[in-house]
Amino acid sequence: MKLAARVSQVTPSLTLAIAAKAKALKAEGIDVCSFSAGEPDFDTPVHIKAAAAKALDEGKTKYGAAAGEPKLREAIARKLKTDNGLDYKSENVIVTNGGKHSLYNLIVALIDPGDEVIIPAPYWLSYPEMVTLAGGVSVIVRTDATTGYKITPEQLRKAITPKTKLFVLNSPSNPTGMVYTPDEIKALAEVIVDADIFAVSDEIYEKILYDGAEHISIGSLGKEIFQRTLISNGFAKAYSMTGWRLGYLAGPVEIIKATSSIQGHSTSNVCTFAQYGAIAALESPQDCVEEMRQAFAKRRQVMLDRLNAIPGLSTAKPDGAFYLFPDISKTGLKSLEFCDALLEEHQVAVIPGIAFGADDNIRLSYATDLATIEKGMDRLEKFVKSRI
Ligand code: PMP
Ligand code: GLU
Repeated sequence: MKLAARVSQVTPSLTLAIAAKAKALKAEGIDVCSFSAGEPDFDTPVHIKAAAAKALDEGKTKYGAAAGEPKLREAIARKLKTDNGLDYKSENVIVTNGGKHSLYNLIVALIDPGDEVIIPAPYWLSYPEMVTLAGGVSVIVRTDATTGYKITPEQLRKAITPKTKLFVLNSPSNPTGMVYTPDEIKALAEVIVDADIFAVSDEIYEKILYDGAEHISIGSLGKEIFQRTLISNGFAKAYSMTGWRLGYLAGPVEIIKATSSIQGHSTSNVCTFAQYGAIAALESPQDCVEEMRQAFAKRRQVMLDRLNAIPGLSTAKPDGAFYLFPDISKTGLKSLEFCDALLEEHQVAVIPGIAFGADDNIRLSYATDLATIEKGMDRLEKFVKSRI
């Protein structure tokens, strides 16, 4: 069978593949500690589920507008104003099948074959694949622990060419957990405005912050950067709604209209009654978000302390998200070998850094219970000791 050429250019999602493998092993009765997919282990808060159930009972079971239920688009615009200082109306917002789909829609709407997209590495693994699917070119800019895995304004400026269309910013970051400071964001905004390119700010971890770290939305820093910014966000992480598939993109009307046309011929609207759950998530008190954040904060400390006690691993302390990203280079293993052997010999599932463009690291998600973290760290410690 001859498939389209683009199929051979994309790699299946390793995060999803390893998470699925860990689940399958568990289903076989094998005692696996999984730190693979970035998926909160909490159930969706009850009031959110109740709102969706009510909408279902009331018969909100029909096709809706492709860009989303008007009430949800309004609620998102209000949230972006109050939380992020962004002056959007509902026409600036499209509801999508998760944050992943909002990024995909944007890239398909904006990127022509040959257009360049600047992506700092380590990056969330789907960004470059989406660019490839659109025929664009990913320009990967490497960062390391010396700059806290953050791109500097100088690095960004150097990477820009006449073909650059878009810069991808992700703070708090997956996979490193790093958070850009307001000054760092400001400096990047100046480069973006000077070069007259677009920036997409993936803010899906904005609520998951520690130690007083502050999230600032790059588009809020002035009119010129606002006009060049797209915000991608979703409900999966903050509200533990990964399976609901609910996200959104906000930005200039022309781009949002383009993504609505694409969505109108591909997925149509996101599940109608699920969107009522999202309205409840945004419009109810936010205690559930804070409760989950506090649980993540505790788990982060436990996992970090355990990792730091393992000779041979070096782990930066992140200010956000729910990932740790140890450097494994002292073990002499590359990330795939490390992860394969760890799963095989000790039944611990983690993601090889190569998936994120960083072969000297592995990613551990601590969005899981403390008992699993303790058990998994015992096993990891044994494994690393056996290798160095
Ligand atoms: N962006 C980042 C950085 C992510 O880590 C994820 C998923 N973990 C997404 C976007 C997409 O999330 P979802 O499609 O589940 O909303
Ligand atoms: N994005 C999450 C992760 O990085 C979930 C898996 C995925 O969508 O790739 O683990």
